[in-house]
Amino acid sequence: MAKKIRLNIFTPDRMVYSENVNMVIARATNGDLGICPGHAPSITSLEIWSLRIIKDEGEQQLLLCGGFMEVRPKKITVLASCAETPEEIDIRRANAAKERTALRLKGDIDARRAEFTRKRAALRLKVSQSNKP
Ligand code: ATP
Repeated sequence: MAKKIRLNIFTPDRMVYSENVNMVIARATNGDLGICPGHAPSITSLEIWSLRIIKDEGEQQLLLCGGFMEVRPKKITVLASCAETPEEIDIRRANAAKERTALRLKGDIDARRAEFTRKRAALRLKVSQSNKP
């Protein structure tokens, strides 16, 4: 059996994920990072992106609204402002957020905030499809 590393993901109100995994692929602010058991200790800031989790059973994805990741040889800790599994994502809500921000972007009101909301909504829709065959 392949070596494992513990992955713990926390948001301000809950523990979203806690499992032993084979590998994690994260989008850090300075590029994509693949983390396997035994990885050198590091602290990285994360983008709004999908976190890819590789296990013996296959790959899982999770939506991460940015945050920080601490890596130790046997443990990865992610602290994110929000994180959702594909099953938790409300597709109608994400579609509504996408439409609402498209209007806001056109009107140029709070364009930067709207851009981040649009990015989260688009990724939610992508991640929500990732567990479908
Ligand atoms: P909305 O305008 O619909 O709230 P948002 O992008 O502004 O979207 P966030 O600030 O990213 O929302 O998230 C606020 C909280 O709501 C977080 O706890 C997040 O997990 C949850 N959340 C937001 N959108 C969804 C969704 N489509 N499905 C499930 N949870 C969501």
